[in-house]
Amino acid sequence: MNTSADGPNFAQEMETSQESGCLICTALKRFQSGCVHKGSDPKPQSLCSVHTWLIAKSVDAETAADTLLSILERALEGKAYGFSCEICSWVEQREQAELEEFIKRLQNPTFQTWFHEHGGLCIPHARRLFDQVPKDFRDAIVSPVKRDTRTLKASLIALLQSARAGTPTHPGILGRVAEHLVGKRGLQIR
Ligand SMILES: [Zn+2]
Ligand SMILES: [Zn+2]
Repeated sequence: MNTSADGPNFAQEMETSQESGCLICTALKRFQSGCVHKGSDPKPQSLCSVHTWLIAKSVDAETAADTLLSILERALEGKAYGFSCEICSWVEQREQAELEEFIKRLQNPTFQTWFHEHGGLCIPHARRLFDQVPKDFRDAIVSPVKRDTRTLKASLIALLQSARAGTPTHPGILGRVAEHLVGKRGLQIR
């Protein structure tokens, strides 16, 4: 698996981030989807629960059967378990590349202004970037994420109050809060 075949593309992310939430998660989901749908070469030798189910439930039958067959054969030989999931490790490598690309972009004033206005990081990715950016750029990460967190908090309080009154409004906010807290659904953010 070549993790650098199609590199991070923040221009694309900048157009869609308002709807799609965390920029890093969005890029990782796209990358992960490429890993499981194309049938990767070399094929994964062992998979975690999340990625086994992702392949079983959302990939075309030929790719899924082919991938799971080779893992099943390894299981018969007693080899498929006790190894770390290869898709997880490809996604982790890509995650680090995306974080590094983000840090480079953040040093560009145009991107920094855009990010300040639009935001677009889940808390786990904001934490990771905070640990990796030069100290002078920490506030550029923290300030939009705190603003997004406060906005979500206000929406969640409104939902709670309307639900208590028996007329819940905008339940879609729950998914946005979950993504903000732990990253996009279907990704293993550690
Ligand atoms: Zn994220
Ligand atoms: Zn995995």
